[in-house]
Amino acid sequence: MNQTDTFRHKGMRKKLVESVRAKGIHDEEVLRAMETVPRHLFAFESAFIERAYEDSAFPIAEGQTISQPYTVAYQSQLLEVKKGDKILEVGTGSGYQACILAEMKARVFSIERMKKLYEKTKALIPALGYSQVKCFYGDGYEGLPSFAPFDKILVTAAAPDVPAKLLLQLKTGGMLVIPVGSGEMQVMKRFTKISNDEMKEEVFDTFKFVPMLPGRKG
Ligand code: SAH
Repeated sequence: MNQTDTFRHKGMRKKLVESVRAKGIHDEEVLRAMETVPRHLFAFESAFIERAYEDSAFPIAEGQTISQPYTVAYQSQLLEVKKGDKILEVGTGSGYQACILAEMKARVFSIERMKKLYEKTKALIPALGYSQVKCFYGDGYEGLPSFAPFDKILVTAAAPDVPAKLLLQLKTGGMLVIPVGSGEMQVMKRFTKISNDEMKEEVFDTFKFVPMLPGRKG
């Protein structure tokens, strides 16, 4: 892999940030993180390196995708990330979203169900300087009970329903951002835990994610 980050890449990132801003992203910390994290270094296949700064999703490995930059920015903005937030991410994939959250000074715990992808990404993230991201091989439907509760939980795969165990792993006042739906498109939802028995639900735009599948894959 070509590990360099050049002025040309930086220029392409600036343009990407402007296009994401024009689409309505206004959280300056999200935009700054996106301008900083070298997305082209998450392209495991060299054919896609040139396309890394287009606002589109692309394949990574194991039939999975790195989310479109706009989608990453959208979910990150809905999470209202604060410095020091303890965040659980479901679906590590390339690690790009996890590094955006780490760049925003969150403490990130990320779970991936595909072993090969987990292994590749676990090795890549510290090489890019984000060693504060902790990677786990496991099933996101279970969450990470031994590290709970979390300030925020971000699901980056399409869930047919909201996984009950994830809601249990939120702190009071915490938020879960998740694309919900089993069809072609999903609705982005944000749940805020008001108290142990009260949850606020907000509904946002529609997106297209790969499915959140049960269990681990070796
Ligand atoms: N956040 C990623 C997006 C990856 S796509 C990025 O920035 O690149 C969604 C990922 O969720 C895929 O890698 C898929 O394997 C993973 N996934 C799907 N179901 C899962 C589950 N139950 N637990 C953990 N990961 C899951």
